[in-house]
Amino acid sequence: MSDDCLFCRIASGEAESERVAEGDRWVAFRDVNPQAPTHVLVIPRQHVENLNDLEPGREELLGELLMAARQVAEQEGLDEGYRVVANNDRQAGQSVFHLHFHVLGGRAMGWPPG
Ligand code: AMP
Repeated sequence: MSDDCLFCRIASGEAESERVAEGDRWVAFRDVNPQAPTHVLVIPRQHVENLNDLEPGREELLGELLMAARQVAEQEGLDEGYRVVANNDRQAGQSVFHLHFHVLGGRAMGWPPG
């Protein structure tokens, strides 16, 4: 855990969030600035900055996070589809440097993203 990381504090329960699901190694909570009717963030409990910071051998954790995203989508009733996005580093728009997958759904979406 990194003391100055907001998402570490959310994962530990020290900072508030609207949690929708959790597992041994991950937590899912609603984004404070939702970009779709459903906008949930799935994060590992362990501090990892982004995909570039994930050590080889941690593929299992990534799989678990994506399965968690699927679980959230099912729970939220996103039967018609949803998008899973990870902004990786500054040019992609990453603003919180603790790995997270956005789960977005509940409206039609355009492509390519901005
Ligand atoms: P990114 O820009 O991809 O790093 O995504 C960070 C996301 O975290 C943004 O969508 C923010 O709205 C969201 N966010 C920032 N602070 C909080 C918070 N305290 N609780 C929930 N979501 C947050």
